[in-house]
Amino acid sequence: PLTDLAPDQLAERLSAAQADYQDLQAKGLKLDLTRGKPGADQLDLSQGLLGLPTTNKDRSGADVRNYGGLEGLAEMREIFADLLSVDTARVIAGGNSSLTMMYQVVTWLLSHGGPDSPRPWAQEDTVKFVCPVPGYDRHFTMLAELGIEMVTVPMREDGPDVRAVRALVADDPQVKGMWLVPTYANPTGSVTSTEVAAELMAMPTAAPDFRILWDNAYAVHHLTDVETKSADALGLASASGNPNRPIMFASTSKITFAGAGVAALAASPENKEWFLKRLSYASIGPDKVNQLRHVEFFGDAEGIRAHMRKHRDLIAPKFAAVEDALTARLDGLGIATWSRPIGGYFVDLNVLDGTAARVVQLAKEAGIALTPAGSAFPHGDDPDDRNIRLAPTFPALAEVETAMAGVAVCVELAAAEKLAADG
Ligand code: PMP
Repeated sequence: PLTDLAPDQLAERLSAAQADYQDLQAKGLKLDLTRGKPGADQLDLSQGLLGLPTTNKDRSGADVRNYGGLEGLAEMREIFADLLSVDTARVIAGGNSSLTMMYQVVTWLLSHGGPDSPRPWAQEDTVKFVCPVPGYDRHFTMLAELGIEMVTVPMREDGPDVRAVRALVADDPQVKGMWLVPTYANPTGSVTSTEVAAELMAMPTAAPDFRILWDNAYAVHHLTDVETKSADALGLASASGNPNRPIMFASTSKITFAGAGVAALAASPENKEWFLKRLSYASIGPDKVNQLRHVEFFGDAEGIRAHMRKHRDLIAPKFAAVEDALTARLDGLGIATWSRPIGGYFVDLNVLDGTAARVVQLAKEAGIALTPAGSAFPHGDDPDDRNIRLAPTFPALAEVETAMAGVAVCVELAAAEKLAADG
């Protein structure tokens, strides 16, 4: 381990890493591992959508080109229901972005409150959300934008630290909600177990209108032949007498076209009615042409599962390249740990405490763009300055290999610099 070296050995390691870094800079790279976007080859898998639909009518005979149908096409809702293991009656199929639906839910909770709210959330002195960390940066920036305070709990391999969550929600009625990416979480890859989900749905909360925003963005995004099933949030919540607690979201953004897919929300009858009521003032109906196009393209949920295996074949090698590059350079050095996800879009890298920002800077100066250090924490503040989110899906495989070999050099150099400076 680098952490155990005597000062003269460490000095040697530092100059070796500096030399490697100079070689890296000399390559004049221009690579980007910042955002979890599908690669063009993944988008090409769905090119057939552009020739669809072949008819103007949905199953009920309605003309999809016209206004109406606020909750989305029944046949589209059925596919989401199957993928999310919920009743079709619980599902709304919407526009292209689930993030927009989340934003609508939060803003309408603020402006109107939910079915069981004593008053609109905006009339509370303070509203707080429990945020498992590291987490999805856009969840946090949304809350910051809306003036909602964030309190963090650790994200573990089987989901959020339930004891920490319980302690936050039990006595404080200002804690109104919580984010959770239950399956292949962004960025840790964690899968929330049924046990953890059951506790979250059943735990006592001081706020009567506590909401868990269950963002199942990666429900079917397996990287191996283990096709993990998500915990049944709606069923568990009903069974424990808190049917309105979870609101579930998903989309085909990383199934078909990231910018032109279909999003969905699933919730209790009361929550669904509440959402549709608010939505009816904002929309006359979603893009049903796009929904029908998706229905024709896939046929059913099985069609989506088969399609996801083609995505897996394209991106699993990129995740393997990340693993190989990190292992080749950093294994055994005691300066980094990283996730080995079996689904989702990210690898979660933890470097020596106090060096993440330096690693990102070194990478940038060598032409490798990484997500800013701290971005997986509320307000961009990683208290340990150690977390870096790697997103390998967008660049070509050879670029991932080159970029990750470079990142590994930066991780070692930053650690050697810090250890040498700390003496
Ligand atoms: N939730 C999570 C956890 C995500 O990682 C992403 C995409 N990066 C989204 C939501 C965005 O979903 P959509 O495209 O449906 O708005």
